[in-house]
Amino acid sequence: MTSYDGLRATVMGLGLFGGGVGAARFLAERGAKVTVTDLKSAGVLARSIEELAGLPLRFVLGRHDEADFASADLVVVNPGVPPDSPYLAISRDAGAVHETEIHLFLSHCRATVLGVTGSIGKTTTTSLLAAMLRAGGRTTWLGGNIGVSLLGDLDRIEPGHRVVLELSSFQLEALGRYEMSPRVAAVTNFVPNHLDHHKTLAAYARAKSEIVRYQNEGDHAVLNADDPVVAAWTSETRARVRWFSLAGPREPGLWADGDSVRRAGPGGEAVFRAGELRLRGRFNLANAMAAAAAALADGVEDPAIRAAVRDFPPVEHRLEHVGEALGATWYNDSKATTPESTQAALSALDGPIVLIAGGHDKGLDLDPLARDILSRAAALVAVGPMGPRLEEAVRRVARPGELDAIEIARAPRLAEAVGEARRLARPGGVVLLSPATSSYDEFSNFEERGRAFKARVRDLGAHP
Ligand code: ADP
Repeated sequence: MTSYDGLRATVMGLGLFGGGVGAARFLAERGAKVTVTDLKSAGVLARSIEELAGLPLRFVLGRHDEADFASADLVVVNPGVPPDSPYLAISRDAGAVHETEIHLFLSHCRATVLGVTGSIGKTTTTSLLAAMLRAGGRTTWLGGNIGVSLLGDLDRIEPGHRVVLELSSFQLEALGRYEMSPRVAAVTNFVPNHLDHHKTLAAYARAKSEIVRYQNEGDHAVLNADDPVVAAWTSETRARVRWFSLAGPREPGLWADGDSVRRAGPGGEAVFRAGELRLRGRFNLANAMAAAAAALADGVEDPAIRAAVRDFPPVEHRLEHVGEALGATWYNDSKATTPESTQAALSALDGPIVLIAGGHDKGLDLDPLARDILSRAAALVAVGPMGPRLEEAVRRVARPGELDAIEIARAPRLAEAVGEARRLARPGGVVLLSPATSSYDEFSNFEERGRAFKARVRDLGAHP
């Protein structure tokens, strides 16, 4: 194993998602002299700092100091750092090696790695794939963008184990620089997002497609046949392609034939039934097919896949069933931070829907969502800074008469929104928190927003 003893290392970007913590610990435990620096304050980063208690680290928070870059041998760059950051140039000019947490992990990991990416559905697909591998008897580790760094587990991850990594476009962009892709790569879909970082759609697509670009002949690429951008990546990879599709058979791969998910091709056997899946919505069926195709590529047998499909509960904050209150069924979909995710949630639920949406305004186009709200929701509670723009979009795109069929309320914050939803909820209906945007106006992340919502719903007497 590479020696880091005495090396001067700077961890740039501690963050709250585990990667910075993992890298700082990894290097400090191997004898490096580690400085951890982040533009965020110690208060914001408290949780991560706590996790590093007891390690010999130097912290420079709320700012970066040039000296920490000019004098470093190694800089571990958080995937969120903009590539044109002047501090990166300073350290590069001074001869420092640039690293990322995920590359550190992959270059020391002895187990087979399966990676999942996509614009939406990563966490669900990654978690379900891990469940399928476990059901198939494999010792499986789950990490990456899901908020878990596996760097600290390297010594315990054995060659026969499996590692399932959720990979963000930022992480993949970094991996592309090392020309590394996982043995099995699955891509759920591609929709515009993160343009603040990647600048152009082409750059974002390029970053995502790194997941298949450096694969070898014996590897597997699991691609969404229904998504034209993703399907075109068959020409970007040397790996064997396995398709999944909600629309029709494409060989080799899986497709949804009515209620049966079966192999494409003559006599294609069914692997599981859509009705067995505990996750709601066609999009979750697509996620499950992506996971199943990746598990099959690893040699998992059908009964294990079926068992995992039957047992797997929704991941917290993703169309999570909170309970029944006031005769309605309440769902927490706080993870829906893009309009597309909220559109997917609206299409997944039956009955009259009271939708709570809004929050921090990222400035995304809300018109397609507004159209779906008009056709699917009985009421809209528009929350926070994005609320007025969402309401305006709904009123503007409405066809004659459509506004008579929907009630629209405004709420400054989530607490008032739950109050409005309580007033609007109908017996037999659904109340859905699916914000379509991030939570930063009121909360530090979507988990905090989702937990606050659930607490309020339980106060209404909700029982699962
Ligand atoms: P990610 O990790 O890519 O953000 P998640 O699995 O956490 O994806 O799901 C995020 C949100 O998007 C949830 O609200 C979920 O219900 C919704 N969603 C999940 N998969 C899809 C999909 N394939 N298409 C559309 N929406 C989806």
